[in-house]
Amino acid sequence: MTAELIDGKAVSLKIKERVQQRVEKLKTNGITPGLSVILVGDDSASQTYVKNKKKTCESLGMRSDLHLYPASLTEQELLKKIDELNNDPDIHGILVQLPLPAQIDEFKIITAIAPEKDVDGFHPISVGNLMIGKDTFLPCTPHGVMVLLEHYGIDPAGKHAVVIGRSNIVGKPVGQLLLQKDATVTYCHSKTPDLKAMTQQADIIIAAIGRAKFIGADHIKEGAVVIDVGMNRDENGKLCGDVDFEAVRERASFITPVPGGVGPMTIAMLMENTLLSAEKGLSKDKASESV
Ligand code: NAP
Repeated sequence: MTAELIDGKAVSLKIKERVQQRVEKLKTNGITPGLSVILVGDDSASQTYVKNKKKTCESLGMRSDLHLYPASLTEQELLKKIDELNNDPDIHGILVQLPLPAQIDEFKIITAIAPEKDVDGFHPISVGNLMIGKDTFLPCTPHGVMVLLEHYGIDPAGKHAVVIGRSNIVGKPVGQLLLQKDATVTYCHSKTPDLKAMTQQADIIIAAIGRAKFIGADHIKEGAVVIDVGMNRDENGKLCGDVDFEAVRERASFITPVPGGVGPMTIAMLMENTLLSAEKGLSKDKASESV
């Protein structure tokens, strides 16, 4: 069996087209969705990510401010900036690029962002809402995974989904979203004694580990759906996932490539969250006008 390719680039383009159309509509109501992105320090990968986010925002007709700070920025200074953005009516989404330098408490920063502008979905209120299945900003990468499954007609209901990785930004939330779609979910991590014994039972595998080509053909059962969240560099410095793509595609039914799988979805879902935030603001304004 050779797996069908899950084309995240194509799906993300469709999402961005829809976002762009809704942005145009909002603009006729005098609202331009605005995303503020904060980067502290000079990590080159993070610089590329934030520039891409800004560029994508602008290509869809949204506003984007990039706030770049030196690695010496204090926690107080960052909190002050977040407070300013929380109170700026033209800003609908605030994103602080992680990781932050050691002198800044990440949790304090994430909780300082107003939940209604938490387009990354990392605030404890957003996480809690996700957990209990309430309407909230979904974290972009896990949401992107779910949209890909849906787009390819892969219904998690009744399936055994094995999530490898339990980070707060990928592993844990993607498992919750699969559970909400009636999958039976198993979480694996670095202390799982026999990973293969788990993954070989999976109908759907989500690899969110951060280890290049770690999941091989012998980890999966014939016909499994394989979603590769990993973004790593191989021995030649080439971008690759957590899955050994060439080997695994011969056993899987569906597979995401890296690049071109989950990665483009993350940014598309961020755009959608920023748009949603602006739309929610508009409907609140309209409701208060009619009182
Ligand atoms: P993370 O916080 O480092 O978490 C990695 C997880 O993998 C941990 O839960 C860890 O277990 C588990 N793990 C490590 N070694 C393992 C092993 N040998 N067997 C089983 N589990 C193992 O990473 P993350 O932020 O979730 O990101 C994961 C990957 O996704 C990275 O490559 C990252 O670059 C990528 N990523 C991609 C996107 C995208 O847009 N495509 C977005 C975010 C992240 P423990 O908890 O026990 O340590």
